[in-house]
Amino acid sequence: MTVNLLDFDAAGLTAFFAEHGEKPFRARQVLRWMHRFGQGDFDAMTDIAKSLREKLKAMAVVLPPAIVSDKLSDDGTRKFLFDVGGGNAVETVFIPEDDRGTLCISTQAGCALDCSFCSTGKQGFNRNLTVAEIIGQLWQANHVLGFDPKSDRIISNVVLMGMGEPLANLENTIQALRLMLDDNAYGLSRRRVTVSTSGLVPAMDRLRDECPVALAVSLHAPNDALRDELVPINRKYPLRELMAACQRYLEKAPRDFVTFEYVMLDGVNDSDAHAHELLAVTRGVSCKFNLIPFNPFPGSPYRCSPPQRIRRFAELLMAAGIVTTTRKTRGDDIDAACGQLAGQVLDKTRRTTAQTAYRTIDLHEVRT
Ligand code: SAH
Ligand code: SF4
Repeated sequence: MTVNLLDFDAAGLTAFFAEHGEKPFRARQVLRWMHRFGQGDFDAMTDIAKSLREKLKAMAVVLPPAIVSDKLSDDGTRKFLFDVGGGNAVETVFIPEDDRGTLCISTQAGCALDCSFCSTGKQGFNRNLTVAEIIGQLWQANHVLGFDPKSDRIISNVVLMGMGEPLANLENTIQALRLMLDDNAYGLSRRRVTVSTSGLVPAMDRLRDECPVALAVSLHAPNDALRDELVPINRKYPLRELMAACQRYLEKAPRDFVTFEYVMLDGVNDSDAHAHELLAVTRGVSCKFNLIPFNPFPGSPYRCSPPQRIRRFAELLMAAGIVTTTRKTRGDDIDAACGQLAGQVLDKTRRTTAQTAYRTIDLHEVRT
């Protein structure tokens, strides 16, 4: 059976090499060729003995998901659509800024958690992405974007905020994270890799113990009644448990705060009273707030809060001494903004909407 070497983190690759009688330093060399230099051709790995190269060629491949479309927004944001087989495709977004370049990566084809304001959730769920499919998005983006001779790196930050819930695909997500952090692979700082979760409490504890990186939590509501409605996983892990999990996470986190994401929904969660309630419920957790203007998608029942409402909400939080930023909407002309990522998901949860059918045509057109 042919093995995809992009499915292994350093420990996995070392074990695979050991099974085939090869030393750990060989695994390290191949890891470096694949991830540091983006090399997928064993013959180009010039310091590897020819006999080992032949052996690898016979049993392994380096196979990232294929890019099926690549769109550039007026603001420089770039959206890639990746074919992950079986009729599914996922999206990855590159967001360039003056002082950094952020790649927003997907972890699942669709999402089972069905948050009421999220386009990915509305499409239903197909499956978890493999390690190769998660890290392959970074591998491919590095190839397309190239290296910046000045800073030597165009992608300085990674956020797991694309399609899917990373902590519902914990094993593969952790292995992909380890590759992002590994000096023989991408060598990113833990502080520059962020996992965003809707609040899967047991998985937050495991992430903390196994691979702590920066954490963003999708809060979106300041009380259980409203959060149950907007983020249904709240019924399983309500706010009190979620806040306790955030406190535990901070004991080992590379940053001394959690970022709370809060989508601004007109007339739903954006009143002064909501802001005060939000301050009360997060008291005791060292945090920052990131307000996200709601990005509409076809068939969504919400509107974005008006700019003056978002400003007022931010002011109330800041007046309590909490750093609060409002996310600039990037790439909305190419449907690359938060919550607009749709890709293509062959829904197994029977939640498929007309919108997905439209996307199917989109992908088909790209391929032909
Ligand atoms: N599943 C994870 C990560 C992916 S979603 C999570 O929920 O955190 C990334 C962020 O985009 C989350 O904060 C999510 O709540 C937000 N988001 C989803 N739909 C949105 C929309 N339509 N407009 C603005 N933000 C949205
Ligand atoms: Fe899934 Fe996150 Fe969208 Fe909720 S907001 S449906 S958890 S991707």
